[in-house]
Amino acid sequence: MELSAKKVDLLITGIGELATAEGDALAGGAALGRVVRISDAAIAIEGERIVAVGAEAEVRAGFEAEVTLDASGKLVIPGLIDAHTHPVFAGTREDEFEMRLSGKSYVEIAAAGGGIASSVRGVRESSKDALIAQLLVHLDRFLALGSTTVEAKTGYGLTLKDEMKCLEAIREAGEQHPVELIPTFLGAHDYPQEFKDRKPDYVDLLIEEMLPAVAESGLAEYADIFTESHVFGIQDSRRIMTRASELGLRLRLHVDQLTPLGGAELAAELGADSADHLECISEEGIAALGEAGVVPMLCPLVPLFIGQKEEAPGRAMIDAGLAPAVATDFNPGSCYVQSMPEALSWAALRYGMSAAECLVAGTLNAACSLRRGDYLGTLEVGKQADVIITDLPRLEHITYELGRSPVSVVIKRGRVVYERGGAA
Ligand SMILES: [Zn+2]
Repeated sequence: MELSAKKVDLLITGIGELATAEGDALAGGAALGRVVRISDAAIAIEGERIVAVGAEAEVRAGFEAEVTLDASGKLVIPGLIDAHTHPVFAGTREDEFEMRLSGKSYVEIAAAGGGIASSVRGVRESSKDALIAQLLVHLDRFLALGSTTVEAKTGYGLTLKDEMKCLEAIREAGEQHPVELIPTFLGAHDYPQEFKDRKPDYVDLLIEEMLPAVAESGLAEYADIFTESHVFGIQDSRRIMTRASELGLRLRLHVDQLTPLGGAELAAELGADSADHLECISEEGIAALGEAGVVPMLCPLVPLFIGQKEEAPGRAMIDAGLAPAVATDFNPGSCYVQSMPEALSWAALRYGMSAAECLVAGTLNAACSLRRGDYLGTLEVGKQADVIITDLPRLEHITYELGRSPVSVVIKRGRVVYERGGAA
């Protein structure tokens, strides 16, 4: 007796190589490179979920669909997850890029009124609708580059009103666009100009007014901070983030980027979900992150972009058993790059990470850093159907081919949401 195949919404067939991490937990140390690779594979999708993954002959025997997508013998991977971006801003800062090339440092540019302060002026002068329109343009580009989930920080408003405007822009853009957004309140990005001579007052404002209002609004899932010697020091960072945590916000921290301040140790102490940048992390910091299970969020494009000589000790962290994720840190000042494939290539080149390690860092570990490993980050039965069909022959090309997008088709929540026209 022949059993009839179950009808599903979508079959992806003709997959030359399917590559994915497995499970819903962080993969660290040797497990970081553990990737399942299936040749001649297929995926069956029902609604928003994956219902079968495996050899094409087996999947076809069990499932049939009205719509079949042919992957043309190419590499298929999970949707990429960019877990560190600052996409809500108005205007660009190419002039500062030029200033840096002529020898000015990031801190010198900030002291001259450039840097974050310049983006703050732009956001304050913009309407919410203008911010949404610009954010939607960025989201189109993320999608075309294979990012199906993006963490989105505020941090260029720096008043309660303007930060709320940015959080509302994230919420509304996310409702209009297939890219899944995770909102982060970064009111502690810098001191606004009007508080430059009374910095402790801004810390009090964050603690007493801004954080409670943001938590109450339900518009932010995370709080973040720029812990750095010229911005928020360790003591103020501890106060601000402890308050955020008490109010029910989860934590991510920018730490040890430009100076070794002990920010990684603070992220570990606070039980943050991620510690981001880490170009100047100490050995004690690496050990602390490992013990606390904090995800090191590596942003390898940033030192390149700002001409910083220090780089995060990515390989040393992996050797110590840590489970890093890789992100772009897309923002108008220190990294105007939205491409996760590019970030993964630079992680490979700068930290000596294999293509398999980079894939896990840009999918499962990134999902776990956002507490979403239960439904995102891998191509497995039961997970959300976020799938990238590339034009690459095999996994190693994801890091090997720099400077172009390998993305042919993007499927988000079981629906085709992007198809590239013509050759890239
Ligand atoms: Zn950042």
